[in-house]
Amino acid sequence: MNHAIRLCLAVGALCFFMLAPAAQEGAKGSLAAPNLESISVADLKGDVYFLASDEMRGRDTAKPESEIASAYIASRFRKAGAMPAGENGSYFQEVQFAYHEFTEPPVARLYDSQQAGDGPLAEFKYGQDFSSAGGRPRPVARCEVVFAGYAITDAARGWDDLGGLDLKGKTALILRYEPTGWRSGSSMRGWSRNSYLETKAALLRKAGAAAVLMVTGPASTGGIDNWVPLGSSETGSDSPPLTLADEPEQQDGLGLPFFSASVKAVDRILGEDGAIKRLQEALDKGDRKAMPDLSAKRIEFDVKTRRVLKSGRNVLAKIEGELNEWVVLGGHYDHIGLGYFGATDARTAMGKVHNGADDNASGTSAIMEIAEAFAGQRKPRRSFLFIAFTGEEKGLLGSAWYARHPVVPHEKTLAMINIDMIGRVKNRRLEMHGMASSKALAQHVRDCAPLFPELNLKFNEQPVGPVSDMWAFYQAGVPVLFPFSGYNEEMHSIKDRPETINYEGLAQATRLVAEIAWRISENPAYPDYRGTNKDAIGPDGQYRIPRPNEPKPAPKEKLPEDSEKEEEFAMPRREG
Ligand SMILES: [Zn+2]
Repeated sequence: MNHAIRLCLAVGALCFFMLAPAAQEGAKGSLAAPNLESISVADLKGDVYFLASDEMRGRDTAKPESEIASAYIASRFRKAGAMPAGENGSYFQEVQFAYHEFTEPPVARLYDSQQAGDGPLAEFKYGQDFSSAGGRPRPVARCEVVFAGYAITDAARGWDDLGGLDLKGKTALILRYEPTGWRSGSSMRGWSRNSYLETKAALLRKAGAAAVLMVTGPASTGGIDNWVPLGSSETGSDSPPLTLADEPEQQDGLGLPFFSASVKAVDRILGEDGAIKRLQEALDKGDRKAMPDLSAKRIEFDVKTRRVLKSGRNVLAKIEGELNEWVVLGGHYDHIGLGYFGATDARTAMGKVHNGADDNASGTSAIMEIAEAFAGQRKPRRSFLFIAFTGEEKGLLGSAWYARHPVVPHEKTLAMINIDMIGRVKNRRLEMHGMASSKALAQHVRDCAPLFPELNLKFNEQPVGPVSDMWAFYQAGVPVLFPFSGYNEEMHSIKDRPETINYEGLAQATRLVAEIAWRISENPAYPDYRGTNKDAIGPDGQYRIPRPNEPKPAPKEKLPEDSEKEEEFAMPRREG
């Protein structure tokens, strides 16, 4: 290249940077990502209608339909020209699950120490009178029963169900949800944290309870004995709660044996038909004099299980850029199957296909469309990794597995954008969560918002929480974003069907995410991280959360597999 040309180029470059703010403003003010127009309603619709079709039976994790869905996603990536990024040159990363199945039907036996003889007063059948309310059902030795109201302690409301109770080593008999009248609005979303099983479990664990037996009081569901083996992990053992196989065996789920029971079974324990209905009415009026003394009652849960291993798979594809630095675009492709767990309409629709069009066929189709838009275009500065996760509905399992077995070191990951439920843009509204995890990412979102006037972007500055697959990345020290069109009535119900999706909104949201991702890739600066992982190291080898008075972290000792990885990710590119 001769001197004169070199000089002009240098001058040109100089002018550009001199003009930087304005020119960059121009750049800031115009779309940078290539091929956004290829992101089409037709393609997105095709993917959602396939993934959320009745034949896909709600894409429950580790089920045949999940296998089909993952093969479909891989074929879409392949057709799009995105390269395999999974194990052994494939598009897949095996995820190993474990669950417990019964070796014989569990039984609960009720005893009365004041009765002659020591035979049981009553025997309760699993799936008929009681079932697991979460986590792995475990045996519980015979112990005393104590009624503990709604298991709520709420100082602000002057409410304390545990005051004066001795629950140590006993089974707490409780009411689900919270006192009638506390709920704001009609939807299930109207309950407060007091209603969360996790909140009640933590309180009762702290009080030393050996187990929990919970009933949904008639007043909480409009008077019907709403007995449906909610969350019954073994209803036909169709969709058991799963854990990751490499997780140490521990008290999973709610941290103690937690069962739900029918109104009929609880009336049996209380010794009279209609007893729990009257008790709930009294309690809701704040009348604690009616609290029953169950000190003569004993209950045992005879549960025998064995551990079973099962596997599913994440689907991974990549588009290599100039640098071995990565932007991850991910979202889960699984859903709740036939609604045996996690369904908001369990009372009426358990056993029916929960199609999961918005949750999350919408996000999965967006990831595939962005891969298609970016593939075959000019080489991006950073590389893109696209991940469709399994096991999200079972507890963010696929992303947790990926975070423990990353195909790209987290240090090399600039950012993760998790797309989950963007199919119900209503009144142009789209929420962007994760803004609090990084100022730089938040700025990209703010810069892009005006470029998509058909969307009314809501910036959510709340701390990142364990609500979807970005959580494991955030915990690993990677800044994250989470576009979300909001909670809705259809969520986790049989109403979440393909024909109810706003495809125009889905296409606009997908283009917005593509633009943001491209900008993260092209911007020379490394996005900051404002999360909880104080030891996280960034692509520049620095602590992501600066430690001004501390020396730079020692360069990570290159493990043989690292250089192999480097090799794998480096070599082809150079030749290319
Ligand atoms: Zn979801």
